[in-house]
Amino acid sequence: MEEYLLGKEIRSWRTETARVITFVVTQECNLRCKYCYMVDKQSEHRMSFETAKKAVDYFIDNKENLFNDDYVILDFIGGEPLIEIDLIDKVVDYFKI
Ligand code: SF4
Repeated sequence: MEEYLLGKEIRSWRTETARVITFVVTQECNLRCKYCYMVDKQSEHRMSFETAKKAVDYFIDNKENLFNDDYVILDFIGGEPLIEIDLIDKVVDYFKI
């Protein structure tokens, strides 16, 4: 019975979809892994708030054409994205507003 309820709950959850929007906020990182996928990274290469705002505006203005999902997940990567925690904070606030 419990398994049935759990399965039903999972099926219900799977009817909703989410769209992931990924922001590469910086190439900078405080580590230097040899296997880093961010080749030729340059610490001065970081996303400005103006660029992030343009991206958010684009997704909001074109949401009907771009996706029809129930949820949006904002994803922040780098480099080390937490180096840009203030930018991430501002982008999330701007997106919510
Ligand atoms: S971005 Fe990731 S893989 Fe690259 S150096 Fe930093 S921690 Fe390592």
